[in-house]
Amino acid sequence: MQSSTPHFIDAHTHVQFAAYDADREEVIARATAGGVSMVVIGTQRDTSARAVALAEAHAAEGMYAAIGLHPIHTSRSFHDADELGGMAGGDAVKPFVSRGEVFDYEYYKALAENPRTVAIGECGLDYFRFNEDEPRDGQIARQKDAFAAQMRLTKDVAKPLMIHCREAFADTIAMLRAAGPDGFTPGIVHFFTGTVDDARALLDMGFSFTFGGAVTFPPRKGAGAGTYDEVVKFIPIDRIMSETDAPYVAPAPFRGTRNEPSYIPHIVAKLAELKGVSPEEMKARILANAERVFGIEGFG
Ligand SMILES: [Zn+2]
Repeated sequence: MQSSTPHFIDAHTHVQFAAYDADREEVIARATAGGVSMVVIGTQRDTSARAVALAEAHAAEGMYAAIGLHPIHTSRSFHDADELGGMAGGDAVKPFVSRGEVFDYEYYKALAENPRTVAIGECGLDYFRFNEDEPRDGQIARQKDAFAAQMRLTKDVAKPLMIHCREAFADTIAMLRAAGPDGFTPGIVHFFTGTVDDARALLDMGFSFTFGGAVTFPPRKGAGAGTYDEVVKFIPIDRIMSETDAPYVAPAPFRGTRNEPSYIPHIVAKLAELKGVSPEEMKARILANAERVFGIEGFG
């Protein structure tokens, strides 16, 4: 879709997930009507393939894909019905237990080479959701193996990393430093929850940051690590982007309900307030940032 006004960008969304099976096209149409272009993010084999297929089907609306293996899917884990739906062949949509996936380099490389694919991920380390049936050491080792392979893939196909990091910033930063500038293509740390010091380390390595609905919530009580406000104010405006992470974490007016990309203006308005610019300027800066980081000219 061509438009004279800059587009809103949802740099991290999951509209391919089962949560949208009943009304996916309506959700996408609402985003398009609101001027929101999106990057649909894979989390394992199937959601990555679906992200690429959806981006191909909606190329005219400026939809792109990222493909990768999320750290929680490297362990045997309970899956959220919103993500993958019911068991294969079953009728009911319900959570199910999956085996851990081993990162298949060639499978993901083929998806990565698709022209609609603009990033590798989401991938990284998640020390918040371990499978309690298994010692953590092995789970951490598998997460690190998958993350390292996806770092290599970013160099192989010259597309940026889309990092998921939860309660694992020290190890994530250590792995990136060990790989060095020749070991990965910097990109985005999504749903950034780190400290100002973490942000500084990642900025120095060339990363940008996406923020979503959580920035619209009241500050966390007793949070020792500082607030989103502090971190957003610290990060330069040319390293900030908006995301929904839909179907999760809807912004304040819709908190607790299924999120969707058309809600992006609420997040951009809050980011604008924190950066002391107008919503229009924030929107234009995010678009420019997304075009630079994803290597897209004329996003949308
Ligand atoms: Zn996500």
